[in-house]
Amino acid sequence: MLPLVALVGRPNVGKSTLFNALTRTRDALVHDEPGVTRDRHYGVCRLNPDVPFALVDTGGIAGENTHLESEGLAGPTAKQSRAAAAEADLVLFVVDGREGASALDDEILRWLRKIDKPTFLVINKTDGLDARAAEADFSRYGFSDTHAISSAHRHGIDELVDEILEKL
Ligand code: GDP
Ligand code: MG
Repeated sequence: MLPLVALVGRPNVGKSTLFNALTRTRDALVHDEPGVTRDRHYGVCRLNPDVPFALVDTGGIAGENTHLESEGLAGPTAKQSRAAAAEADLVLFVVDGREGASALDDEILRWLRKIDKPTFLVINKTDGLDARAAEADFSRYGFSDTHAISSAHRHGIDELVDEILEKL
């Protein structure tokens, strides 16, 4: 069985875009509307063909914004994310460098600490941004493994894969 990496984060941070960049497919549904990916979605990253690993994309900590209010962190979509993270060897906690840290990111961080898995903080959407400023905004999260990337522009993807492979 291949080692498994889970993409976790609130809706619309670019998890599915990252999934596609890593698997080089258009399998994951990318959408401007948050919460499009409802179920867990598996793929394989072969960017280093010698060491493939499996990936699971999730619907985020909550579904659509409406569900966010009604379901919250106990809802079925959040449970899917948690199940994906719990079965993974490594978690990529994906956040949005443009919007910065949000209350929902803080909440996700709290349950990630509880499941206590090796976790990278992946700051996405840093295209056209000062990556250092984006990282500074999340520095209070206390991650030693922080990666500023742009999934849409494939910036930092190869470096991220190298770091993932070192950790697995
Ligand atoms: P998910 O809900 O976390 O799976 O997010 P998606 O992958 O569906 O992306 C949400 C939106 O963010 C889409 O409009 C993407 O095109 C956009 N997006 C994703 N990655 C990037 C990025 O690196 N830079 C920019 N500027 N936009 C991005
Ligand atoms: Mg998605």
